[in-house]
Amino acid sequence: MELIVLGCSGSVAGPESAASGYFLRGSSGENVLLDMGPGVLAAIQRTPEVDPSQCHVIFSHMHADHCLDFPSLLVWRRYHPTAPATVRHKLIGPQMAQIHLQRAGGDYPDQPDNIEDTFDVLVHQVGEGDFDATIWPVYEVGELRVFSAPAVHTTESYLTRIQDSDGTSIVYTGDTAPTDVLPRFARGADLLVCEATWGECGGDKPEGMHMAGCDAGKAAREAGVKTLLLTHIPPWGDEEATFRGARSEFEGEILIAKSGMKLIF
Ligand SMILES: [Zn+2]
Ligand SMILES: [Zn+2]
Repeated sequence: MELIVLGCSGSVAGPESAASGYFLRGSSGENVLLDMGPGVLAAIQRTPEVDPSQCHVIFSHMHADHCLDFPSLLVWRRYHPTAPATVRHKLIGPQMAQIHLQRAGGDYPDQPDNIEDTFDVLVHQVGEGDFDATIWPVYEVGELRVFSAPAVHTTESYLTRIQDSDGTSIVYTGDTAPTDVLPRFARGADLLVCEATWGECGGDKPEGMHMAGCDAGKAAREAGVKTLLLTHIPPWGDEEATFRGARSEFEGEILIAKSGMKLIF
């Protein structure tokens, strides 16, 4: 699989990166966008590998920094003069995704914009306990298999695991507070794209919202992943301290997400 970071700035877009958005290409050529925060569609236009009309979309949750570029994607898919969408793609999101996204793209609050012309809308299905691909609820996106588990956040939010037919796997946390579900769900993944909003260690931060670098490192260690990609660090955050926190818990490869970064695994 190939992952391109389209946006990794936490909570808000930053001067050097869009808010959350990632492009994933499977070994059989499947195209998937993971979240679409502010600035992501602009980043897509700087990334020749990505055709916005040819992507499935998965939303971790409906906070603005993860979905506000979606109405612009609809315009592109429907009205681009030479490269509109020609087939419906899958859109996997929280239960509230359809109504939320349709309101965001609508002309008036009572006139939501029906997105079913261009997307097949699906709701995350979660399994429980230790991850097991043979029994976990799954969506098939081409040859990719998409699994979900509950995140801990202030709104309905999901962890996503994508497994390729070549055996590689990636787990994306979206936004989540520390949760025992994460290492059980991410077990053995090649890449853990993990939010680390709150610096080295959370300290006095409110519960139930986000992780710090040490929480991300602990989850990576417990899950036994190969590579940890730290992301969702806000513009006011401290990348070095976040890395230090993760390193204090995890001895494997740790990277800090940057806009435009490409990972092949
Ligand atoms: Zn966020
Ligand atoms: Zn959030």
